[in-house]
Amino acid sequence: MAGNGDEQYDLVTIGAGSGGVRASRLAAGVYGQKVAVIELPFGFVSSDTVGGAGGTCVIRGCVPKKLLVYASEFAEQFHDAEGFGWAKTSPPVDVKKLISRKAAEVERLNGVYSQILSRAGVEVIEGRGIVLDPHTVEVRGADGSVRRLKTRNILVATGGRAVKPKLPGAELGITSDEALVLDNVPEGGTIVIVGAGYIAVEFAGIFRGLGYNVHLVVRGPEVLRGFDDECRAVVRENMEKRGIQVHLQTNPTKLERNAEGGIDFHYYDNKEQSGGIIKAAQVMFATGRAPNSRGIGLEDAGVALDEKTRAVKVDEYSHTNVPSIWAIGDVTDRMNLTPVALMEGKALVATLFGGKKTVPDYENVPTAVFCQPPLGTVGLTEDQAIEQLHGEIDVYISRFKPMKNTLSGRDERTFMKMIVHVPTNKVVGCHMLGPQPTRSLCSLLQVGPDAGEIMQGLGVALKCGATKAQFDSCVGIHPSAAEEWVTMS
Ligand code: NDP
Repeated sequence: MAGNGDEQYDLVTIGAGSGGVRASRLAAGVYGQKVAVIELPFGFVSSDTVGGAGGTCVIRGCVPKKLLVYASEFAEQFHDAEGFGWAKTSPPVDVKKLISRKAAEVERLNGVYSQILSRAGVEVIEGRGIVLDPHTVEVRGADGSVRRLKTRNILVATGGRAVKPKLPGAELGITSDEALVLDNVPEGGTIVIVGAGYIAVEFAGIFRGLGYNVHLVVRGPEVLRGFDDECRAVVRENMEKRGIQVHLQTNPTKLERNAEGGIDFHYYDNKEQSGGIIKAAQVMFATGRAPNSRGIGLEDAGVALDEKTRAVKVDEYSHTNVPSIWAIGDVTDRMNLTPVALMEGKALVATLFGGKKTVPDYENVPTAVFCQPPLGTVGLTEDQAIEQLHGEIDVYISRFKPMKNTLSGRDERTFMKMIVHVPTNKVVGCHMLGPQPTRSLCSLLQVGPDAGEIMQGLGVALKCGATKAQFDSCVGIHPSAAEEWVTMS
């Protein structure tokens, strides 16, 4: 242990995001360790980081994004209500009010996260944490103060940040950070989104629902690379039906400020072999995120980083090459999802302080893309199953018009795919788009259960190794879309 009468900690965590908070509060609250978490103050913004307990998920990711998804879904609810006898209505949305109410909720949650830490006995220290050596972390406060902490273990949980591609004029565009506070695009204005991952398709749905004219510029042949191919196509078709203009196999080439004060977005369409310009009020890059591993002393302390991505290299126990330094979450660039960072944090403290070496389990991690309607998925895609299980699979598909769409007239179908390993009868993959939930008239304007909600339960089933026969032996809930999962043939 380091220290010569200085403050001694068992764990000093840099970063109070999802993973850092989980690991720190369990280390202090469950295992009785002396723990400090270092985080920049809420509201702090610099070129490489944003402050506040809760981190990316709470301050500029999952939570504010989902609130905006809810807001944008009302457009469809107002439209669909007409088919159920409600008078036609399409009230305007006050985007400034929405953004300000969302900001207030994010601030409230930031307070909740700080309280969770304090109640667990974790010392929260505001500032930027710098690793000085394997047992010393320096905290540089926004007010110029400096404090040194001696510790047995250091946890790097600094997350990641949105990055823009290298492109002439890229500085004119924004990322999801700014998109979450965007309230100055004129009503019905044009927004170009570059990218085709989670963030791009989710924001395309948000902006379209809020009434903007949306172009999605995708460099590949389809959206959502890595997801099940049929689901990818249905996601894109649904976006197009809602009026989002999807440009496949198209690359951005340049952004220029135009005379109207907007942005000329230049692109090259590889299918047509020709270029073009979209006149946009705003351009958003959703072209990926990079680990926050710069400027926190990692290299000086001898911590190995990936040469290409600068992610902190860790083993299966989230251990870096330096014995006293550990890392979890997006800074390690493994599976960049909040619940995965939580799992890594929990496993880490069990290893460090619980006397039980614990490896996070990355198999059958359910996930949802909150496009509209949402896509939920767990387990292998069809292509992965064919490759990994040598083609010994059965694929069950269900496509149907959700009950709500019979009266709403909405031209969207629910799509479900189940993949079963034939020799063992085990269900190895479930993928679902939709449904528009069956709702009673009185709950028409509520956001109800969706593919993301349903997939959580199926995730448990796959973790338990459920077979197709066991799915079939479960009685369905009627009338629901979820009952299809137990009646597929
Ligand atoms: P992703 O890495 O998932 O997607 C990046 C997208 O940008 C891809 O479509 C990629 O194309 C494209 N792209 C990359 N570089 C360029 C370029 N130079 N020009 C044009 N297109 C480019 O990143 P996201 O930003 O969408 O998401 C980041 C992380 O956040 C993900 O890992 C995800 O796990 C997480 N997340 C999870 C959510 C959820 O759980 N619902 C919600 C939001 C984010 P290509 O496919 O061809 O490489």
